[in-house]
Amino acid sequence: MLELPVTEIFSSIQGEGPYVGVRQIFLRLPNCNLSCPYCDTLTSKQPQLRIELESGTQQFKQLDNPVALDKLLGLLETYDFALHHSLSLTGGEPLLWSNELKVLLPLLREKGITIYLETNGTLPEPLLQVLPWIDIISMDIKLPYDDQVFWNVHETFLRYSLQKDVFVKLVVQEDTSLLNLQIARDLIVGVRPLIPTILQPVTPTHGIKAPKPIQLLEWQRFFLEKLSNVRVIPQTHVFMGQL
Ligand code: SF4
Repeated sequence: MLELPVTEIFSSIQGEGPYVGVRQIFLRLPNCNLSCPYCDTLTSKQPQLRIELESGTQQFKQLDNPVALDKLLGLLETYDFALHHSLSLTGGEPLLWSNELKVLLPLLREKGITIYLETNGTLPEPLLQVLPWIDIISMDIKLPYDDQVFWNVHETFLRYSLQKDVFVKLVVQEDTSLLNLQIARDLIVGVRPLIPTILQPVTPTHGIKAPKPIQLLEWQRFFLEKLSNVRVIPQTHVFMGQL
């Protein structure tokens, strides 16, 4: 039986994007292929995972990693699927585990839970491996950093995602360049102008500053010149005290 390393499992409220406020089971997987300057997530593989003792209590116990997929399915089934809008696959970058996910996800879908994928949008081929069992895709468009650019891979990923309920999220900060925003906007327009697009002001960290209110207004106007559904939504779970 395949095994999968897990970072944590818990029940909480989705804090980002157009599904903000829905109740989800979060399955966080380790490792990431990027190193975004504003990242504040533990991405390294841990010898033990943590799982809530009881759904929604924020009280955790530790279990050994990695976990056999049948055992992981059993752990997830201790959550009341009817109470939850969906299961959020998050990370790190969960598509790094596509070989394991293409076994686990069909089993979860048989139980009737909606699968919501949070991804950095840079691994289009692994996406294809699991796409049949994904319902909603929250895809980041990463603006260039440290001389790394992702435009081509993002465009391919977004085109593959069109078969599903996809929205795009861009984290913006005070020093975000208008040129990069223009390239990102035009990339989305070139794929499908109706794709919901979220401008997410960065939660200040590592000396990175959030945009000024006037910048957010200007950037939303700029995106709305060519896209029909552009919203500005911060990370609401941070000020709700949610995980
Ligand atoms: S893609 Fe996400 S998890 Fe990976 S480094 Fe960037 S913010 Fe962190």
